[in-house]
Amino acid sequence: MALINCPECSTQVSNKADKCPNCAYPLKTKSNVESEGCFLQTLNFGCSLIGIIILILIIIFVFAALSN
Ligand SMILES: [Zn+2]
Repeated sequence: MALINCPECSTQVSNKADKCPNCAYPLKTKSNVESEGCFLQTLNFGCSLIGIIILILIIIFVFAALSN
């Protein structure tokens, strides 16, 4: 656990805290966002790539089904 300085009031806050206990400034750090997983990171390249591949597979499947 590390301490970071709140950008709003300069209070030392745990980097695992969602917000500053002093001024309630939201402190969503990058590591916290990453722990929320792939689903919420829709702009993340790796997750987008998986989504595109799944979409292409669905399109191929639909076209294959329609051509029969
Ligand atoms: Zn603060």
